[in-house]
This record gives sequence, structure tokens and C-alpha cells, in this order.
Amino acid sequence: MKIAEKFSERPLISFEIFPPQKDSPLSSIFKTIDELADLKPDYISVTYGATGGQSSRTSEIASIIKNRYGIDPLAHITAVRNSKEDIKKEVEKMYDNNIENILVLRGDNLSGEPEAKDFKYAQELIQFIRDEYNDKFCLAGACYPEGHIEARNKSLDLYYLEKKVSSGVDFLITQLFFDNTFYYDFASKLRNRSIRIPVQAGIMPVTNKNQIERITSMCGAFIPEKFIKVMNKYQADKQALTDAGVAYATDQIIDLLSSGVDGIHLYVMNKPQVARKITQNIKSVMKSLKSGDV
Ligand code: FAD
Repeated sequence: MKIAEKFSERPLISFEIFPPQKDSPLSSIFKTIDELADLKPDYISVTYGATGGQSSRTSEIASIIKNRYGIDPLAHITAVRNSKEDIKKEVEKMYDNNIENILVLRGDNLSGEPEAKDFKYAQELIQFIRDEYNDKFCLAGACYPEGHIEARNKSLDLYYLEKKVSSGVDFLITQLFFDNTFYYDFASKLRNRSIRIPVQAGIMPVTNKNQIERITSMCGAFIPEKFIKVMNKYQADKQALTDAGVAYATDQIIDLLSSGVDGIHLYVMNKPQVARKITQNIKSVMKSLKSGDV
């Protein structure tokens, strides 16, 4: 099913996973998918080359999620390092495997400037997929409540986002953020620009201080003082940091859900136990929202 159609029963809950490294067998991800599937997400997304070198496994894993688990996958794909021919091969493989949803990204060249082949920006790749395949796929795009790290300013970033959306994006997923005020401010700017497609808030439950420092230095997300305090206090105690990270993310999510967000996309970093805790924490809230009583 196309994910865009599911927003009629919003809010959606989805999980993001990444493929195992090349030297690990593909099957090493199955336990993670087993446990995530048990939580009945609206979809599971699979990254593409985000940690370098395992992009060819994305559509294979997405296909397993669809055809073995009966869950809709969202397969990521990037403009970086792909030519038109590469994209056609990849997208046609997805189509043959019943994958209907693609998150179309520019990607990052981790060693420096993005290596543009045929597409410089995500928007060009979205336009290409739409021109070649019409409405065969539901296409998602990335967006940045705090502005993309390379953008000269937020308003220019929004201008390009608007162009990207009009090239054929069906829904958006945000970059992670730790302060919901960025999201609310961003959502109101989208409305002012008449961007009306659903926007899922990307939330990362933090369970590891080094990992979050690396990720936020790459994407520029602001870390509130209150959160830094928690990380510093419990960095040597894995369980305490996990519990505190889950509690912080839960608080963010309940606030977003109560404010009418279209959905939550959890960056679970292949940790199903974290996804399970969060799902459990928001169970009654989700039940109440889905029942239509609130
Ligand atoms: P774009 O939309 O192309 O924007 C990139 C920059 O270019 C922005 O600053 C924008 O303002 C600017 N821009 C856009 N269009 C134009 C234009 N026409 N002229 C001038 N400037 C322009 N990376 C991976 O490698 N693999 C993944 O699987 C992956 N998954 C992700 C999932 C999510 C939900 C998110 C939020 C990010 C993900 N990323 C992934 C990271 C992403 O690739 C980077 O954030 C990348 O730097 C930007 O990608 P984009 O698609 O948003 O780019």
C-alpha cells in the first residue's frame, strides 16, 4: 500500500533501520525486523548508504519486509553516487519486488562535497522518478525544522523545499530534533507556504552519547541544556542513559501527538528494545487518538 494513503488514519508510527555492514550476513537484520514487526508499525524504512557502502542491500531488505513480514517498507535512495541508469535499475528492482514507497534523498558524500552524477539535488531525482514512473510510487522527501546544515538561511531552505514538494513529494519526514518548538515553528511556516502534505516528525531516542554527538555534528541539530545534563550525568551507565533517553523521546512524542502531528518516525538505530519501550509508553495515547474520542 502507498504510505500517503495511510495518513487518513493518522497519526502514523514508523521505524527506521539501516542494513548490516557488508561483512555481516544479511540475515543479521532479521532478528531486528522480527521484533519491530511485532510492534505493528505503519511502515519500516531502510536507509541507503547512510553509513557507507551497503546501499545494494536496501531494496533487498525492503523486499523482505514487504514480502515476508507483510509490512509496507519505505526504501531510501540517494542522488549522490547514482547515475540515471543506476536509479532506473534500482527503482525497477523495487517495483518488481512490490515496493511502492521510496524516500528520495540527495545523500551526503561523507568524504567531502556531494559527488553529483546526473542529479545534484533531491528535487531533480524526484522529478526524474515522477517523469519516468508517473504515479507507480509514493515518494517521500526529507525536511529540516532547524534548516539544512548547508542552507544559507531557513527561508531559502524552505523555498527549495517548496520546489521539491511540487516536483512530486507525497509526504515529508523531518530530520531529528530535540526541541519541539523548532517543529511547531517549521510546521506553521509550511502552512504559510501552502505546503499541505503530511509531515512526520523524526525522533531519535538517544542511548549513546558518542553516537548523538557524531550525528548532531553532521546535521547541526540543537541539543537543549536539559538534555546535555542528562547525557553527561548518565554517560557511564548504559541502562540509565537508555532509560533517560527513552523518557526524553517519549515526552517529545506525547507533546507532538497531543498537538496533532501527522506521525512519528522513530530513528531506532536497529535497537528494537528501544522501539518497544517507546511504543509501550505511548500505547494508551495512541489508542485514544485512534479511537477518535479526542
Ligand atoms: P536536498 O533536498 O537536495 O537539499 C540539500 C541542500 O540543498 C539543502 O541545503 C537545500 O536547501 C539545498 N537545495 C535544494 N535544492 C536546491 C537547488 N535547486 N539549488 C540550490 N540549493 C538547493 N542520507 C543518506 O545518505 N542515506 C539515507 O538513507 C538517508 N536517510 C535520511 C532520512 C531522513 C528522514 C533524513 C531527514 C535524512 C536522511 N539522510 C540520508 C540524510 C540526507 O541525505 C542529508 O541530510 C542530505 O544532506 C540532504 O538530503 P536532502 O534529500 O534533504 O537534500
